[in-house]
Amino acid sequence: MRKLALLLFFFWSVSASAQNFTEDSLFIKRISNNILSSDEAYNNLWYLCKKIGARLSGSPQMVKAEKWGLETFKKYGANAWLQECMVPHWVRGGRDTATATYTINGKKQTLPLHVLALGNSMGTGAKGVRAEVITVKSYEDLEAKKDQLKGKIVFYDVPFDDTLINPFEAYGKYAGYRGTGASRAAKYGAVAVMVRSMSNSTDNYPHTGSLRYLDSIPKIPAVAIGLRDVKKLSDLMSSGTSVSAFIQTNGKFFPDTIGHNVIAELKGSEFPDQYITIGGHLDSWDPAEGAHDDGAGCVHTIEVFRALKELGYQPKHSIRFVLFANEENGLRGGTKYAEEAKAKGEKHIFALESDEGGFTPRGFGLSVNDTAWNKIQQWKTLFESYHVYEWKRGGGGADIGPLARNLNTPVAGFIPDAQRYFDYHHAANDVFEAVNIRELKLGAINIAALIYMIDKYGLQ
Ligand SMILES: [Zn+2]
Repeated sequence: MRKLALLLFFFWSVSASAQNFTEDSLFIKRISNNILSSDEAYNNLWYLCKKIGARLSGSPQMVKAEKWGLETFKKYGANAWLQECMVPHWVRGGRDTATATYTINGKKQTLPLHVLALGNSMGTGAKGVRAEVITVKSYEDLEAKKDQLKGKIVFYDVPFDDTLINPFEAYGKYAGYRGTGASRAAKYGAVAVMVRSMSNSTDNYPHTGSLRYLDSIPKIPAVAIGLRDVKKLSDLMSSGTSVSAFIQTNGKFFPDTIGHNVIAELKGSEFPDQYITIGGHLDSWDPAEGAHDDGAGCVHTIEVFRALKELGYQPKHSIRFVLFANEENGLRGGTKYAEEAKAKGEKHIFALESDEGGFTPRGFGLSVNDTAWNKIQQWKTLFESYHVYEWKRGGGGADIGPLARNLNTPVAGFIPDAQRYFDYHHAANDVFEAVNIRELKLGAINIAALIYMIDKYGLQ
């Protein structure tokens, strides 16, 4: 009898959960139909890219983008507000130029280099910097050549590892040369640095990105070079030709200025004091429209709100939709968001960021405990109809990092297909036209589905 009761209980619980998932599958299909039948996400991306454009922290476009984000959330019926934070204000200050010169058969040759100053880097001034170029293949190589660097321009010729299937791994491995290469070379007397663009593209767009100077070391100018020119320069250098370069850049800092995170909220019915955050970052590098990085993440975030609201979804937990300020060169927005959450004693049960582009969704990377992981594994079949199969342990996003670090919040990163991301990342070709409408919408659908499941079932 007891066995029978256990057996009955087993079937009851299996059918109950199966039934729940059927309901969930139907609701996710409604989300999907809603998003696929609407062009709002794509139109929002168009407006952000074409009507506002590049929106680096401190720029007038940053202010326009914040206003647009707030108004867009409100247009869809959100309770939305701005959260103030101080942001750095770096400007490029003009066109960056560079040329390499060398002599072959007694004839002086000039090779123009397509370059972009690295974000946060100091300009050369009007006179520019001219010096002999020395190639460095790694930081070990830099240390080995430390006595030869005085007065030179260091060329970090460290290519992306094309054998890595996930280009984000290559980026993770080499972005350090962009971040700290200038200070490490300046320590030994180098006068400027040039880095290969962090990309495996076949074009010649230079890819900028943040640099961090160490305070105790002279701040020398730094540029990224387009990959076709890198190839030419690299071939010259490895042939033993003596090359000198001229670099002229104008980067400088103004005092910190006021920026904002844009926040919308759907209040929870059962656990209003427990928060789920979904977001992307609103700032972008100055030479680009920031379509994939991270216009896509912003319109994903807005689209998830729009669809849930339109479907009349009443969440159990409070869901926050955040367009973060200043991810690219300071992370002040994400830092402020976590700071205020901590100061107010808010309980953040989950956060997700979309900051890997608007490409076809593949899955999610999750930094969660075993209980949450096992729970999420049971939901996998719900996502298969939407061609999402990849569930990785580990992942998150720069802007939600402070929540994970300071509030112990479980976090996740949305994973779209990554093969073309670094063709566009931080380069002038990261424009609206580089984003496909179907791929963009499918991203929003899958993010909405995961948020819905976590809201409904929790992660404990
Ligand atoms: Zn980004």
